[in-house]
Amino acid sequence: MDDEQIINIKRRVWKAQRNYSENIKAIEAILENERGFVSRVNAKDNVVALCSGGLDSTVMVAYAIETLGATVHPLFIRRGARAEKLEEAAFDFFMDFFKHKYGDKLGYVQKMDLTIPPKEFKGDFKREMVNTVGHPMRNSTMQNMAVNYAMALEGRYGIEVRTILSGSVFDDNTEPEMGLLSLRAQTLNTCIQTGDWSWQITSPFTDPGIFTNQNGLKAMSKADLIRYAKETGIPLEKTRTCFSSDEEADGSCLACVKRIKAFEEVRIKDPIKYRGGK
Ligand SMILES: [Zn+2]
Repeated sequence: MDDEQIINIKRRVWKAQRNYSENIKAIEAILENERGFVSRVNAKDNVVALCSGGLDSTVMVAYAIETLGATVHPLFIRRGARAEKLEEAAFDFFMDFFKHKYGDKLGYVQKMDLTIPPKEFKGDFKREMVNTVGHPMRNSTMQNMAVNYAMALEGRYGIEVRTILSGSVFDDNTEPEMGLLSLRAQTLNTCIQTGDWSWQITSPFTDPGIFTNQNGLKAMSKADLIRYAKETGIPLEKTRTCFSSDEEADGSCLACVKRIKAFEEVRIKDPIKYRGGK
């Protein structure tokens, strides 16, 4: 890896984010003008939640049911990730767990196959690009699939779904494809592409439009999610965070590093095992 190239990419991304909050406001003004609100979730709403079997998206399902009162239809994408088998097993465990805990508030569970990034390109990306901004349009691609699922639910069962939940937490706001601006941009794009201004692609943890309308909710970091899971009785040892294909988490990939840091912050022992007994 070339350090200088990484620094250059980071610098470019940082420059592109200079007007971050102004850009959010500009998109929000368009949404407000077209539909009279930026974002909101009502207790009777049906939502599709993108789930990976990881900590953030797993907690998000419980949070959306318990605090927003929504009926959640989870979507798991088999995207050809190295840890896919383990992620899917974690997802399966929690779907069972939530079905017992929440009954019909957990809606229709769906899995689908879509290799992201496509195998034809995956090996060709510049490493320094993947290591700094990730695979191109990864989250956006998954969110587009969630919109497809929402429309399929309407056709199959007559359930209207216009809200897609994606598990961004507050600490993710600095990453181009995770932050609030990307959610607003995705919302705007979806409304324009479908000719329907009622769509919202959002995260209950980072979207002020959601949590300022609900009593007592606030922006949440990964550490907040861990506290919430502990209080709610979500068995975090069953989540799968690590990118590696081994059963034991490596403790060194970006996902592990973020998770370990968050557990340290709340002074709770991470119940999963790390390689070498870390
Ligand atoms: Zn890892």
